[in-house]
Order: sequence, then C-alpha cells, then structure tokens
Amino acid sequence: MKGGIFYRGAIMTVLIFQTDRTPECKGAFLNETLKWAEQQQLDENLIIYLSNFTMYFNLLSMTPSMMLFIMPGMPPGVMFLSLLFIGISMLVSWRLKSKFKEYSEVPTSSGMTGKQIAEKMLRDNGIYDVQVVSVDGFLSDHYNPANKTVNLSPEVYSSASVAAAAVAAHECGHAVQHATSYRWLAMRSKLVPAVQISSGLVQWVLLGGILLVNGFPALLLGGIILFGVTTLFSVITLPVEFDASRRGLAWLNSAAIMRPQEFTKAKDALWWAAMTYVVAAVASIVTLFQYLMIYLGARNRD
Ligand SMILES: [Zn+2]
Repeated sequence: MKGGIFYRGAIMTVLIFQTDRTPECKGAFLNETLKWAEQQQLDENLIIYLSNFTMYFNLLSMTPSMMLFIMPGMPPGVMFLSLLFIGISMLVSWRLKSKFKEYSEVPTSSGMTGKQIAEKMLRDNGIYDVQVVSVDGFLSDHYNPANKTVNLSPEVYSSASVAAAAVAAHECGHAVQHATSYRWLAMRSKLVPAVQISSGLVQWVLLGGILLVNGFPALLLGGIILFGVTTLFSVITLPVEFDASRRGLAWLNSAAIMRPQEFTKAKDALWWAAMTYVVAAVASIVTLFQYLMIYLGARNRD
C-alpha cells in the first residue's frame, strides 16, 4: 500500500462525516471516495472497511451502484455477504414501507386515532404518568423513558387506521415495559451511554486499526471492542422490540378494539417492523466477525 493513500483515505472519510447535512450530499462524497478507491487498488482490508462503512451510514439510502465501485478489490466472500445484506435490508425496508402505506389506508372499525388508542392502552395498564405527544417525521414513533412520553408521528397520532393503532400500541408496549421494569429494557437503557461514546469513536478507531494493523494491532482490537458494544446493543434491542409488539397486540386483542381481519393486519405490520431490527442485528454480528478475522489474520502473519 502506498503512503499517500493513508492520508487521502482518512481525508475522504472526514469529508463524509463533515457533510452530514443531507443524505444527498453525503451520498455524493461517498461516491467520490469509492470511485477514487477503485482507481487506487486499495488494500483488501481497507476495502472491507469502506464497504462496511457505506453499509452502516447509508443502509437505507445506499444504491447498488455505490457498491459496484468497491467490488473490484473485494474478496469474493465479503462481496457476497455485503450484497446479501444490502439486498435483504433494501427488501425489508421496502416491504415495511409498503405495508405501512397499505395499512394506513385501512380504517379501524372503532374509529379511534393513534393518540386515543395509546391513551386507552396506558390507562388500561394503570399508567397515568406518561404523556402521548406528536413528533415530526415518517416512522419516527418511539417511547422516551427519560421524560416518560409516547412520541407518535403526525400520521399515527391523528389517523384512525390499522397501521396507526399497531404503532401506537407497540410504543405503549415500551411504556408498559418501563413501568414494570422489564429486564431487557433496563439493560438496554444502561447501555445507551456506552453506545453513544463508542458510536462516536468506532469508525475512526477501526480505520486507524486497519491502516496500522501490521505495526500496532492493539488499535484494531480496541475498534473491535467498541464495535462489539454497538453489536450487543442491537442484539439486546431484539427482545425489547418483540416484547413491545407482543404486549401491544395482546392489549389490542383483549380490549376488543379490532375486528379479526384488522388484527391480522396490525400483527403483520409489526412483524415487518421487527424484521428491520433483526436484519440490523445480524448485519452487525457479521461485520464484527469480519473485523475479528482481519485482526486474527494479521496476528497469525507475525
Ligand atoms: Zn419499539
């Protein structure tokens, strides 16, 4: 590997971070980096890093054409895995969006809006100190344990559709988890500060670790540990998400708010939402494993 490549690689990575303003802007810089990476005939490990970097920061906006730029230097196994995960995650997010669009147009027979559903579910579970509020953004719904609010996107908050009811019940599922000190949610909340620290550092430490893998392998090991924290977080997220959906659906069923065919659709919508978390967790585990292989490979060469 030539010396100048180190600097240009690092500089381009900084540029991608700096242009965090809009996805389009970031995408254009990423395209430049990948084009340049192809011309340089980069080190195999650096190409794995760049492809994972692309996956992580542009999972939803990433296009297959971006991937094509890094193909030439990629080992076939890594190329196959990257394509597989891009394919699966694009498919799942497309499916989730189309399901939500479809079920947003199915009115509930009860005529209750997402807000009303959420408030009733909280009351039925004996929760009186949680506020239901509206926040901007598409699929931006979440429960915030810090200030005890169920945050619903405008679409979910004010519409009386099957999709809105499903999302509102799921978010209240998190509020019930919080109120009943559900173990996995508590564990997830405890990890948040560690994840915030490691996610700010991980890409830099990994980049440094890969560039210096032969002289200073401990840096890559540090990056792997930081990455491991975010992987652990995405794995602990799984039981939390599945359980919130289970609680939401159980309540929708017992409160007799939906007809059987509406309930089936609500269940389907939440299943696809859960699948996005599964894909993210599996992709994170596979990536962690790739970095571990690079580290072990370099160590065995010594
Ligand atoms: Zn959730």
